[in-house]
Amino acid sequence: MAQNIPKKQMAQVIEKTGGPVQFKEIDVQQPGPDEVLVNVKYSGVCHTDLHAVNGDWPLPTKLPLVGGHEGAGVVVARGELVNEIEIGDHVGIKWINGTCLACDFCQQSDEPLCAKALLSGYTVDGSFQQYAIAKAAHVARLHKDIPLDAVAPVLCAGITVYKGLKESGVRPGQTVAIVGAGGGLGSLALQYAKAMGLRSIAIDTGDEKKDMCVNQLGASAFVDFAASKNIVKDVQAATEDGLGPHAVILVAVSEKPFQQAAEYVRPRGTVVCIGLPAGAYLKAPVFESVIKMVTIRGSYVGNRRDSAEALDFFRRGLIKAPFKVVGLSELQSVYDLMHKGQIAGRYVLDTSK
Ligand code: NAD
Ligand code: ZN
Ligand code: ZN
Repeated sequence: MAQNIPKKQMAQVIEKTGGPVQFKEIDVQQPGPDEVLVNVKYSGVCHTDLHAVNGDWPLPTKLPLVGGHEGAGVVVARGELVNEIEIGDHVGIKWINGTCLACDFCQQSDEPLCAKALLSGYTVDGSFQQYAIAKAAHVARLHKDIPLDAVAPVLCAGITVYKGLKESGVRPGQTVAIVGAGGGLGSLALQYAKAMGLRSIAIDTGDEKKDMCVNQLGASAFVDFAASKNIVKDVQAATEDGLGPHAVILVAVSEKPFQQAAEYVRPRGTVVCIGLPAGAYLKAPVFESVIKMVTIRGSYVGNRRDSAEALDFFRRGLIKAPFKVVGLSELQSVYDLMHKGQIAGRYVLDTSK
């Protein structure tokens, strides 16, 4: 089934937790019976990839590890049990690389909760290489008219924030605060919020991110968390009636906002936690949370249906978030900028460079 597949390829590999990430030649792997081999053309860089390098979470990665889980490319080989996907099809490699498809959660299409889930760029090698493997049942199907560079960030960031917005229960016309709005997930969240008919308040810092959020992505207000003397007051004041946003989507990479959101969310509002800062704890005042009937919940990527829906929004031209393309060889410099919080939007790696 294979066609013109080289034996060797370039990849970004970490040998040990803490890095560094090394750009080097490694073997191209063969897909198993239920897997496809994808010639990755572009891969977005998610902050999760940096958490993986740094060992930020209480879940060990495989080592050595090829990171990456926003890979968009072309199927070049498939295992003998795969018949729904053709060689030449365009697909996306997502964070959820594969699941058992049989457990309680898989049966209820809560695949991200599967205890046997394989995680791209974390427990299995991901998309920071030219040829990556994924379970055929879980790759995202991409129409051939979709540009592979622009769609890459949708494969994690887009799906995740779209799911988070659905989990928040907000309805068209209501207001959502996006905390960490200037980053990869945040910039896409503003676009999905707009497409879903929501008003949005962007919370992040700096003029570049402010300009992007308000002038490019459709935020109705911007609150600079570094400049604000009182975040709670400023976020509430940014809503029409001063009562606060109906939902808060937390995609920030620091702990503080996870301890503030319940204070400015509207009574009966919902706080959706998505960002995963190292060692962080949620905190909320019991008194206010009770008398305001606040809901606080987590949201974790999306299932296959959420993924298809998020991609359909993109295909319809409703999701246009800024991204910069650099070569796969430049991953370390992207991590350096990300660590400093200096990326407005997303970086996408071109695996041919
Ligand atoms: P990013 O680095 O692109 O963006 C993070 C943004 O948070 C930056 O713009 C930064 O300025 C901002 N920020 C930092 N402190 C802040 C504060 N106090 N208030 C407001 N904003 C603040 O990161 P990303 O790729 O968008 O990922 C965000 C987080 O989401 C990461 O922790 C990542 O691991 C997590 N994530 C979770 C899921 C999930 O399924 N739950 C999926 C993907 C990513
Ligand atoms: Zn991600
Ligand atoms: Zn399962």
